[in-house]
Amino acid sequence: MRRKIVAGNWKMNNDLPRTQGLITDLKNAKKTSDAEVMIAPAYVNLYHAFEELRESDIEVIAQNMHFAENGAYTGEVSADMLKSVGISTVILGHSERRAYYNETDADLAKKVDMALSKKMEVVFCFGEELKDRQAGNHEAVVKSQIKNALFHLDADALKHIILAYEPVWAIGTGETATPEQAQEMHKAIRKMIADKYGDDTADNISILYGGSVKPNNAQEIFSNPDVDGGLIGGASLKADDFFAIVNAI
Ligand code: PGA
Repeated sequence: MRRKIVAGNWKMNNDLPRTQGLITDLKNAKKTSDAEVMIAPAYVNLYHAFEELRESDIEVIAQNMHFAENGAYTGEVSADMLKSVGISTVILGHSERRAYYNETDADLAKKVDMALSKKMEVVFCFGEELKDRQAGNHEAVVKSQIKNALFHLDADALKHIILAYEPVWAIGTGETATPEQAQEMHKAIRKMIADKYGDDTADNISILYGGSVKPNNAQEIFSNPDVDGGLIGGASLKADDFFAIVNAI
């Protein structure tokens, strides 16, 4: 079953007091849509957030994890560590991880494998840079990111992947893909999945859009047939804005 999902990526924002405050606001927010809601606080606040939201229907997820089981990787966090504090979904491949920490498609394939081997769910991010779009290569870039990191999986494994198309030029810039650009890309991605895995798998996979989604543009973006929700950065830092987006589905 294709799921509607709105996930908030807090990035490197919110210390513990702010995390507590925002969680209180989120608990009080009124949800009128049937979208699944996820939030991704920083590692240090995951356990607290998980405990606070344990009884709610907001899932707490991680922003990243390492591909190794454990060992001498100073500063890193493993899948087992996440699971031990209640986290069973992880965002992988965010463009900021790719750009600032040199995460490659090959690294991401290993991270995806580790997450799935631990029975975790993955929100897998990909998206073209401005230069790719200007050169007309956006579809090819996105397809190669997906193919390189995911196409070694079988159809069963792919059921644990949520896709998130995030054009890099739209992240944190205030510039969004037009609803037509989003739909065009999401449709191409779904077709690519159908070609490799069949129509059933393609129909059931959720494809989120991310990049400057705000309360005032969410509805237009989400109304596209192949857009199943959003990955929200800046606008997930205020409960009112975030839930306006959740409720726009
Ligand atoms: P933004 O970030 O909503 O602030 O553009 C989206 C993301 O990076 O997931």
